Formats: sequence, structure tokens, C-alpha cells
Amino acid sequence: MIERLEPITVEQRRARIGLEPVRPTYRDPEERIEDFFECSMGFTAEEVMAEASRCIHCPQPSACVSACPMGNDIPLALWYVEKGEFSKAAEIYRQTNPLPEICGRVCPAESTCAASCVLARRDRTIATGAIEAFVADYQRKNSGVPLPRKAASSGKQVAVIGAGPAGLAAAEDLIVAGHEVTVYEALPAPGGLLVYGIPNFKLDKSLVTWKIEWLETLGVRFVTNFRVGEQVSLEELKEREGYDAIFVGTGAGVEATLDVPGEDLGRVYRSIDFLVRGNVAQELLPDTKREPITLGRRIAVIGGGDTATDCLRTSIRLGAGEVTCYYRRTEAEMPGNSDERLHAVEEGAKFEYLVAPVELLDRTADGNVDGMRLIRMELGEPDSSGRRRPLPIQGSEFTVDIDDVILAIGFWPDPLIGKTTPTIETHKWGLIKADPATGQTSSTSIFAGGDNVTGPALVNAAIAAGKHSAAAINEYLSTL
Ligand SMILES: Cc1cc2nc3c(=O)[nH]c(=O)nc-3n(C[C@H](O)[C@H](O)[C@H](O)COP(=O)(O)OP(=O)(O)OC[C@H]3O[C@@H](n4cnc5c(N)ncnc54)[C@H](O)[C@@H]3O)c2cc1C
Repeated sequence: MIERLEPITVEQRRARIGLEPVRPTYRDPEERIEDFFECSMGFTAEEVMAEASRCIHCPQPSACVSACPMGNDIPLALWYVEKGEFSKAAEIYRQTNPLPEICGRVCPAESTCAASCVLARRDRTIATGAIEAFVADYQRKNSGVPLPRKAASSGKQVAVIGAGPAGLAAAEDLIVAGHEVTVYEALPAPGGLLVYGIPNFKLDKSLVTWKIEWLETLGVRFVTNFRVGEQVSLEELKEREGYDAIFVGTGAGVEATLDVPGEDLGRVYRSIDFLVRGNVAQELLPDTKREPITLGRRIAVIGGGDTATDCLRTSIRLGAGEVTCYYRRTEAEMPGNSDERLHAVEEGAKFEYLVAPVELLDRTADGNVDGMRLIRMELGEPDSSGRRRPLPIQGSEFTVDIDDVILAIGFWPDPLIGKTTPTIETHKWGLIKADPATGQTSSTSIFAGGDNVTGPALVNAAIAAGKHSAAAINEYLSTL
């Protein structure tokens, strides 16, 4: 374990509070909507050191560390960054986070580590995400990421079902602990929503490919195009291959429905079907999703989370003329990342609040959507989510002309594993019941974590769940 280098004095701390924030540079919106490359240009070495040197190194255990689901030692990493020791800083992140180059790009720091920073009160919080991405990239490109030393072989075999961030995190810790690990993935490539969801302009897919190759070199075996529960159930697989334990990280990949007339019309897309066709290379797509999408001029995106914002920005890059997000509450209740929303607005997206679709129209009767009837909403009392409930205003309906509609209204877990594994208890729309600390399910040798346990959440939470389960599986295996 690397120790903190030097203590910081009260005077130094005060001086740091006065330092000006340094922010990462973004490509010009006019330029970035012409391609699917990442929008953030990140930091230069000088900038990243200047930004890291604003950390005041709180005397009490840092709030940013507790706010990070993985418990990254952010202050220690920042200490190395300000000294220019970028690879050492990357190692600090890698001790707790197997995917720092990815989290540095996609974690909504504004609601986790950066939000809890004492400087946030002065609106001068540290750009923790861009710093993490910088050092992880630096180490990968300059010194390479060393393979960890694996424990002696335990003779035990573990299957990981689902190759999203939860599954990848679990696989890494389990193989390092000396177990044999095989990851089964339903889609043609591993990565989960990191590949088949989050667009390239937020996260370059080559980072995921690099990590998969790194895990393969470590000894993790990937079996793709294999949907557990379809030809073979989880328990049959366990029996047949002799697995001692299983981690299930199957995510929440089933799209919610709008339940209004016209939802099944042509040119009405589900968000992931739409995003993958715009963002994923043809050869990585299942045959059923290879048909390219040609958008019309006026695009309606329904929903208010990150997925909706990603659909808006992808539509713009695919050449749509007028792209509007329709959301039933106000911006204050929107669940998505506000920085992402700002980027969407810079790129030309419009937002209409307090409106909900009541019907998707096909007025020319050609089988395709061409309009949408909406109703205006007002906010009532808070609902179970704590947000004020949207209520329709009677008589306020109106119609808009639309060429394509993209539904980005939420996700459920796939019920397949729960239905075909009688020993695993599920609840609330198919979420797997698991111990929150260990991920252990009602079947002692089967553990679960990530979106399939919590419902749609974040990459950092899925990684943390995968790591907690790997530790619990390791302990369980030691008792066999
Ligand atoms: C469009 C979009 C954008 C997002 N943007 C962000 C963001 O910017 N920042 C952020 O932190 N989070 C974001 N998220 C959320 C984040 O991607 C998820 O919370 C995270 O990926 C969940 O990880 P997971 O491993 O639990 O599941 P997933 O990433 O969904 O991976 C599950 C994997 O299991 C596979 N699988 C499912 N069933 C089976 C089966 N029966 N057999 C074998 N394999 C199976 C799936 O194919 C998939 O590959 C976004 C989500 C979406 C949809």
C-alpha cells in the first residue's frame, strides 16, 4: 500500500481554497456532432496537476472516499497527480476500481464524489472524473497496466453470467484470488451496457476492448452469444461444468413500455435498439439489430434520464434536423446527469417539460408514426420516489408532427434467469433478491449484483456490487 507523502498545513489548505478551478476542454459542439468520437478532450499534464493541487486534503476521513461506491482513495491519488506521478495515481485508483478509465468518463461525479467535496459548497469542486480518466489513460499508454500476481490455484471454478461492469469486476477479483473463471455473455461481445448502451461520444469502445483483452491475458475465459436460461438453465450449467459458485450480473436490459396506442407503429424505436445501431460496429451486433436506421427530420425522444439524453445526442449525430425531448415532470425532477443535458442543448437538442404522450399517430395509415398527441402535466404531491407526481391537466391535449419516436422510459431486469432458476428468489418485477452486503441469493452458491438486483443504476454501483460478491464468493469457496 502506498502511503500519503507529506502532511499538509492549515495555511496550505487555506491557500488551496483560493486556487482557480481548471476544467477539461470539450470539442466545439459544431465539430463534435459531425462524428461519434469522444467529446471531452480531457486535461493536459499541466492542467491535471494544477486541478489536482486544489484538493485541500480534508483533515477528517474524506467525504469523497465514502461517496464513491468503490471507496477510491481520491485524495491520495490527487496527491500523486499534483506531483506528476501519474502512473502511481492510476495504481491508487486500480486498487479499488478495475475500470478507472471508464468511470473517469461516465461516473456522474456531480452526484457522488465531487458532490460531497467541501469545495462543492463554493461551486469549486474538483474535476475528479477527468483526473481519473487522465491518469488511467496515461498509465495504460506509457507504462502499461501490470497484471496482478494471482494467488495459487484454489482448484475451484466459478461462472460469471453477464459481462457488464458487475460481471467484469467480479471476474477480475475471482481470478486474482486463484479460481478458474468463465464469463457467459448473451451478446456477441463482452462489456454489457458499456458497449451496448453508453454511446461512443461518452466512452470510446476501444477502452472496453482493451480491458477484455487484459482480463483474457489474466486467464478469464469469455463465452459469448450464450444466453443462460435459454438452451441450458443456470443450475444445469452449474451441474454440467462443475462450477463451485456462480455470480449473476445480468443487468436490467428489458425496456419499459409506454402503454399508449400506437406504440407498435413503424419508426418507433426502443432506446437500446436505437443506440446500438447508431453507436456499435455492425460486426458486434446480433443479426436482428444490424439494419441501419435512417432518421427523418423531426425526432421525439420520450423520457428524462441519461438514456434519453444519449438518444437525443445520437439522433443529432445521425443527421436529424429537430430533436426534442418530451418529459412529464420539470427539469428539477429529471434523473439524468445535468452536464450531459447541457451538452445535448449545446448540440441543438430541445427539451419540453410537463408533457406526456397519450397516443402515437399514423394519420397517413402507412404503418409508420407521423405524429404524437400529448397532454400537459402539473406536479402534485410527492410519490414513492420522493419526486412530485405528474398529473394530467384535463383538456390540454395537443398534437405535434413527428418522423421518428424513441422511447427511453426505463428498464426492467430480464425475468429469464429468475424464471428458470427455481432456487433463486426474485421480487419487484423480476429483480433478484440478494444480500446487500454479499450478493448471496436464496441459493447459497449463487450470488448476484448490479442492475439485476438494484434496478437500473450506475456503472460505479455495478462494479462495487461485483467486487463485494467476489469477496463473498471467495470466502464461501474457502469453506467448501
Ligand atoms: C443508454 C445508457 C446510458 C448510460 N449511461 C451511464 C453513464 O453515463 N454513467 C453511468 O454510471 N451509468 C450509465 N448507465 C447505467 C449503466 O450502464 C448500468 O448501471 C451498468 O452498466 C449496469 O451494469 P451491470 O453489469 O449490472 O449490467 P449490464 O451492463 O446491463 O450488463 C449485463 C450483461 O448481462 C448480459 N446478460 C443478460 N442476461 C443474460 C443471460 N441470461 N445470459 C448471459 N448474459 C446475459 C447482457 O447481455 C449484458 O451484457 C447507462 C445506461 C444506459 C442504458
